[in-house]
Amino acid sequence: MRQLPAVNRFLDDPRIAAFEAIVGRENIKRSIAQTLEDARRVPLNGGYSFEALSATVIERLKSAQYDLLVPVINGTGILLHTNLGRAPLAAAALGAMQRIGAGYSNLEYDVERGERGSRYGRAVSLICALTGAESALVVNNCAAAVLLILDTFAKKRDVIVARSQLIEIGGGFRLPEVLEQSGARLVEVGATNKVYVEDYERALSAHCALFMRVHPSNYTIAGFVHEVEPKELVALGRRTGIPVIEDLGSGALADLAEYGLAHERTVQEAIADGVDLVTFSGDKLLGGPQAGIIAGSAALVARLRTNPLLRALRVDKLTLAALIETLRIWSAPERRTELPLYAMLATPMETLRERANAYAKALKGAAIVETTAYAGGGSVPQGALPSLAVALDPSGGASAAAGKLRKGDRPIIARIEDARLLLDLRTIQPSEDPIAIAALQTL
Ligand SMILES: *Cc1c(COP(=O)(O)O)cnc(C)c1O
Repeated sequence: MRQLPAVNRFLDDPRIAAFEAIVGRENIKRSIAQTLEDARRVPLNGGYSFEALSATVIERLKSAQYDLLVPVINGTGILLHTNLGRAPLAAAALGAMQRIGAGYSNLEYDVERGERGSRYGRAVSLICALTGAESALVVNNCAAAVLLILDTFAKKRDVIVARSQLIEIGGGFRLPEVLEQSGARLVEVGATNKVYVEDYERALSAHCALFMRVHPSNYTIAGFVHEVEPKELVALGRRTGIPVIEDLGSGALADLAEYGLAHERTVQEAIADGVDLVTFSGDKLLGGPQAGIIAGSAALVARLRTNPLLRALRVDKLTLAALIETLRIWSAPERRTELPLYAMLATPMETLRERANAYAKALKGAAIVETTAYAGGGSVPQGALPSLAVALDPSGGASAAAGKLRKGDRPIIARIEDARLLLDLRTIQPSEDPIAIAALQTL
């Protein structure tokens, strides 16, 4: 036992000391103590090796590092990857978070009048200018936006939804369950593949609160299908005095056809169709922070604002700071590629090819393969676009190599296809290339 190396010897080891900035000294001491404790429990067999013990300490510290929130490199080719934090933020949005987060701000204060001001005002004017909506509101996420609307207008009343739109998206957002949770009654109309405006009309009763359209974010129905045009449903809504709400989810403000994707219904189109309230996410195709945006009729938004639930769903100052800057980027079309999502979407294949060549040059046995990248994140069901990946066939197998990449200093999330390890370059930032290349070289 006395042959166990001293704690200080580990603390002084530069490979271990390097973790201090990341996980803190307490974590380092704890990892050393646990390692020594484990060593004491097994019978001594030929002496303790400092090298073997410090390797264990380093393994522990790496795990401790992943207990924190750490940046990763996204080699999956899925641009809005829910598990990897969806949309990366623009530099201007990050700057605003830093500026506003570091001190006090006029979050709810009218500086000119010297009195209480509106938390939402600045974001709302930008949303209205961009979408053509009369009014708007911002909450925590799109699920919260839907919940707030249902809670405000549809408690113990009917919400009429086409059966083909009763979606489940990732993370437990299952529309029938959200409806149930809010206390609204779901009335399904139509068949799975076909629904007509007459189906909505027949379902009407004195208990009807809303007509609801939901964007099927992650699937399409093809073949023998019939959908009700939004305008048709709006016309029925006007005739019967029932508001039409539409959960767009992805919240495209631009025509994605510009980026070689299928056209996605935009927020502006939904507002122009006369939909009374539209809901969408801040961190999908908007390319901003997690938030739920509600845009539409001023009278209905005014009622949402009086719901006490809004207090529980309200957004914080950092989100608002980032959202406002993101919306300001949208207000100036020439700034679009400041949003990392659109920079990735707009990257030409030639640029990816040049980067792929640099990888291939640095890596023995690497191949460049054509792949498909996806918008992802429950945003665009057919959001596939061409991309390039670096492919490796590591000797120990792709899955072991993927594990090794995940557990590097900067975790890299790769894709495995046909037993090969792929790193899709569309979702890897050019500034991350040297790190990715160095990690691949170790394989
Ligand atoms: C993604 C999505 C949501 C949920 O959005 P969050 O911002 O993740 O809460 C709701 N509805 C639709 C149609 C979606 O695509």
